[in-house]
Amino acid sequence: MNMKVKKGDKVIITAGKDRGKSGKIMQAIPSDGAVVVQSLNMRKVHIRPKKQGEKGQIISKESPLDVSNVMLICPQCSKPTRVGYQVSKGSKSRVCKKCKETI
Ligand SMILES: [Zn+2]
Repeated sequence: MNMKVKKGDKVIITAGKDRGKSGKIMQAIPSDGAVVVQSLNMRKVHIRPKKQGEKGQIISKESPLDVSNVMLICPQCSKPTRVGYQVSKGSKSRVCKKCKETI
């Protein structure tokens, strides 16, 4: 799947319980069309005790979000935007559809 966002991008969430919040992409998962955004879409995860006598733990962990539920925040104009592509000299670069800057 063609991913318009990548690791390190700042995105805003457009659907779900964290709608309107923004964060940085920690991990992009092109095979699932999903991204993991730092501190967002948290889910409780049970950790089993490793040894006898140890207690299990419940921790909060980011779970992947569908890439269609996030929108890139342009680093140039700081607005949520759609991503376009520009091809020049055989290489493809991403452009912001709002300010037309390369991002
Ligand atoms: Zn822009």
